[in-house]
Amino acid sequence: MKIPLLDIPASYDKVLVDVEKNINQIIQSGQFILGPIVEELEKKISSYCKTNYAVGVSSGTDALLISLMAAGIKEGDEVITSPFTFFATAGSIARLGARPVFVDIEKNSFNINPNLIEKSITDKTRAIIPVHLYGQSVNMDPVLTLAKKHDLVVIEDAAQAIGSEYKGRRAGSMGDYGCFSFFPTKNLGGFGDGGMVTMSSENIYNKVKTLRVHGSNLKYYHEFIGGNFRIDALQAGVVLAKLKYLDQWTEKRRENAQAYNSFFKERGLTNQLTVPSEDFAKHVYNQYVIRIKKKRTELRSFLNENNISTEIYYPLPLHLQNCFAYLGHKQGAFPESEKAANETIALPIFPELTQNQISYIVDKIDDFLNK
Ligand SMILES: *Cc1c(COP(=O)(O)O)cnc(C)c1O
Repeated sequence: MKIPLLDIPASYDKVLVDVEKNINQIIQSGQFILGPIVEELEKKISSYCKTNYAVGVSSGTDALLISLMAAGIKEGDEVITSPFTFFATAGSIARLGARPVFVDIEKNSFNINPNLIEKSITDKTRAIIPVHLYGQSVNMDPVLTLAKKHDLVVIEDAAQAIGSEYKGRRAGSMGDYGCFSFFPTKNLGGFGDGGMVTMSSENIYNKVKTLRVHGSNLKYYHEFIGGNFRIDALQAGVVLAKLKYLDQWTEKRRENAQAYNSFFKERGLTNQLTVPSEDFAKHVYNQYVIRIKKKRTELRSFLNENNISTEIYYPLPLHLQNCFAYLGHKQGAFPESEKAANETIALPIFPELTQNQISYIVDKIDDFLNK
């Protein structure tokens, strides 16, 4: 048995007919940039995320960057976020000359610890980027309360969390901006790069739309310095065709997570490893990440020898990255993030994974730990 971390072609049976139909229509129309397919996708994503508006952009990274630009983040500003996330979250802050201010994560959820935020707020703090890591929402109520109290913009990094919920609210609908990615490994992936910003304020919607086309409303007249942040119509066509299946894929991911949890429990392994916590309904499991205190490298090699692919998200927290050395953080600055970087391992969780495969993976982990 050979089990990849993610099997993108496994969904082709379902989606290719509709994808080809949309792509043909775009090719026939000759409209490759923005246009009706992009608008249709924006309407469907905003309604899926329960926001008033959505703007299709070139990637999840650009969704973050354009949101920070629309919020007016500039040199000298501070933006609070987690050091345990994909690089783009903090990279976008730094690209605008602002300072990423890291706040450590909670041990169980791997998300920013709301109790540690307030002491990092200064008179330069302008925004906060909560990251719904692996597909589970940040504990948003305390974050939103602090943002209101200190007049901070909230930009949700929901790149891994489309469809995820917090107390009945959808990821991307709680902050001022919601940032999504259609990178192929995300729960709703295109056949290339793409992204989306969701919002409910009409002012923010207009600003983001303008920034997406070099800050211009009237062609060749520029209100702001924006960029080319447009989503490709062909990618929008792919994502639109796949959106119909998103809920059923999410359900499969959730079932797979439950299957892992019960196999680990049945085999008595939960004292040797920690399964993901589901603190808020509902987790969409872009990744299923376990924590193991000892011999992680050896476990990964053993699984690899048994044809099971795994990954580490992420091996080096952002405060210890070379490019952020100027921030002056030392080892030990954010202990929970550093522990998570050393102890976590992501197992295959994609929708087409079978119960047999999950059972086989758990057997192999059992073999490694106990034989
Ligand atoms: C994937 C991801 C991004 C960036 O999205 P791209 O589409 O790859 O640019 C940003 N933040 C997080 C948490 C991500 O997982």
